[in-house]
Amino acid sequence: MNEQDKPRKVRIGWFSFACCEDNTIVMTELLNERWQEWRELFDFRHARVLQTNNVLDQMDIAFIEGAVAGEPQAEKIREIRKLATLVVAIGSCAVTGMPSAQRNLFSDEQKQDVEFLVERFGHLDQVLKLSDVIKVDAEVPGCPMDPQRFLDTVDSAVAQIKASWSSEK
Ligand code: SF4
Repeated sequence: MNEQDKPRKVRIGWFSFACCEDNTIVMTELLNERWQEWRELFDFRHARVLQTNNVLDQMDIAFIEGAVAGEPQAEKIREIRKLATLVVAIGSCAVTGMPSAQRNLFSDEQKQDVEFLVERFGHLDQVLKLSDVIKVDAEVPGCPMDPQRFLDTVDSAVAQIKASWSSEK
């Protein structure tokens, strides 16, 4: 089959910020049943859990888990937003900030105890949820995320992307 005859794949990015990456584990568990379908459907541009060679370029859908703890993370997220048609916030940390944003609730005394760490890692005063930094198109809540809700969101995002391709013709 010639290159131009191959079905167009949906370009995907999977990114993790301040979190325990349990949503990544849920996603890789789902691959046990979905890998054949997703291998045909997706072009994984960036997914460090799945491959060594990753590129940060145009994506149809970027999945982002984790809260935003520092300005370098916020910058990277703004860059991802510019490159992605749709951005999906994955898991409670990305959707609400919690539980990764627990230090936002610390007393003044507790804040003093962790101040040296906040300074050492150049963290923000407050840990942010994803929508504090960029526009988010869809959210999959849960800690970790609910697998079925994730799959439904993937289906809906893919349908949206494919509909946009049809309108390009
Ligand atoms: S939402 Fe919960 S499970 Fe997911 S990364 Fe955050 S702490 Fe971990």
